[in-house]
Amino acid sequence: MPHMQLQVIRKGALYTCECTRCRTSMYTHEFVNDDHNARRDAMAAGTLKCDDCPGHADKATYHEYPRPQYAARLSAPGFMDCTDWHYGPNARKLAAEVRDAYGVEQTRDARGRFVAGA
Ligand SMILES: [Zn+2]
Repeated sequence: MPHMQLQVIRKGALYTCECTRCRTSMYTHEFVNDDHNARRDAMAAGTLKCDDCPGHADKATYHEYPRPQYAARLSAPGFMDCTDWHYGPNARKLAAEVRDAYGVEQTRDARGRFVAGA
């Protein structure tokens, strides 16, 4: 994945639950999801549709993170190409986790921003 850049979003409220059918974890983050409040309410009500299968949110697994969390992923500016979001309370550890997950080196561009090696 060439030209992938690490994208870290400031701390915000994070909610999660599992899909009733495929058990994939669903998330909604205050500063990642434009429809965050609607997604949160749909998770709590068990009506949020799964992205990966015909299932929906299992409200028995609905969970609010007690502390705000960062969100991070790799993305290619100008392209739709990006990884899944990862979440965590520590920005430095989260950035390392995302780089490790996709096997990219940590480098900085001319402005000192972290970028993923090609
Ligand atoms: Zn599912």
